[in-house]
Amino acid sequence: MQHSPEKILSDLIRIDSTNPPGNETAVAQYLKDLFSSVGVEGEVIEPEKGRGSFIARVGSGPRKILYLSHSDVVPAGEGWDFDPFSGEIKDGVVYGRGALDCKDLMAAQVSAAMELIKEGAPLKGELIIAATADEEKGGMLGTSYLLEHYPEKLKADFAVNEGADQPVLKNGKILYFLQVGEKGTAWSTIKASGKSGHGSVPTLADNAVVKISRAVTRLNNYWAENVLIPEVEKLFKDLAGLFGLDKNLIKPSEIDNFLEQLPLEKNFVEALRSMTRMTVSPNMIKGGTKTNIVPDYCEASVDIRIMPGQDCEYVESQLRPVIGKDVEIEFDEYQPATFTSSEEPYYKLMEEITLKMAGSEAICLPVISAGSTDSKFLRAAGIPSYGVGHMDKNFDGEARTTVHGRNERIDVASLNFKTAFLKQLARRYLA
Ligand SMILES: [Zn+2]
Repeated sequence: MQHSPEKILSDLIRIDSTNPPGNETAVAQYLKDLFSSVGVEGEVIEPEKGRGSFIARVGSGPRKILYLSHSDVVPAGEGWDFDPFSGEIKDGVVYGRGALDCKDLMAAQVSAAMELIKEGAPLKGELIIAATADEEKGGMLGTSYLLEHYPEKLKADFAVNEGADQPVLKNGKILYFLQVGEKGTAWSTIKASGKSGHGSVPTLADNAVVKISRAVTRLNNYWAENVLIPEVEKLFKDLAGLFGLDKNLIKPSEIDNFLEQLPLEKNFVEALRSMTRMTVSPNMIKGGTKTNIVPDYCEASVDIRIMPGQDCEYVESQLRPVIGKDVEIEFDEYQPATFTSSEEPYYKLMEEITLKMAGSEAICLPVISAGSTDSKFLRAAGIPSYGVGHMDKNFDGEARTTVHGRNERIDVASLNFKTAFLKQLARRYLA
């Protein structure tokens, strides 16, 4: 019981590592003590006081797997039906902030490692457990810091991290996902200048707010060209097979038609749509100072998410004609998309184990995420990385909406499923 995933998860939830401020060192120290109790000396690396990450290594040999998770959580906010940091285990469910993002994965990774240690069967390679800080605020003090200062500590043949959607049940099948890529970001500001004047005679002035609102409307109506990367094409073909849809629709010009026909929840269909193109969302406008002054300056912030192979130059070439020549575009934050091929043997091994564990009704599919995780740093450092969201087939579908929301929780059966999957994967790869 002592090292069961639910007990470890419950302990982890009770350590409040809300970021900001983080306080991840408390999590790292807990893990250090836990590993120490089974004879493994892990280490805590602290770039700033309280912001520690934990790393432990189990086994030795040339092969290496990295099990990565993040130790911080987002603020709980108001309106919970229970204490977000109680870590209560009741009726087969563990309750609290981090139960799905991503202390569950951490507990499963750690518990799998503990079981392997206790079984004493020597591993012919290294299982690296890393619980890193700061992911929810960009990861600069966590995975990014470690890769910059101690790259050899995370170096592995491949990594398993968070990032995949939870399974979907449909037509008697259960669809498991392996995340193989993440879209990039090209966050931008569009800016317009004009000529100020009195609001009572606007025809003498040149209104910058009007210029930006026109550009914002056009951006909102803009649809980027569709792009089908091989993994998404494979995903769509498998879905077409499952639902008896015409595979000829799986080409860039017909994607939206194909998506309309998929008998899946809107949330999921829109997630699929976002895997097929750049998205552009103008989300903030600043301009003007007073009701009776025509503004001479206005700007808007635009959240742009790009596909593998797209960059700032691509974004500018697409959006320049849309915003018009009296509006400028500036890039504030750029992160290219990252990607690991599903043709790698690691993917095949994970797929094989998933299907074996979940039975004949299971299907395993590659996905790319619109959001990002620490996998972007690993992939950029040349470490193939996969996101898993494996759950038991009877998991509570309602709970999936509690990530970053209220009443976060996970069922113990799903935790056990994750743990068993990770244990088998380590055993198989490091055998
Ligand atoms: Zn997370």
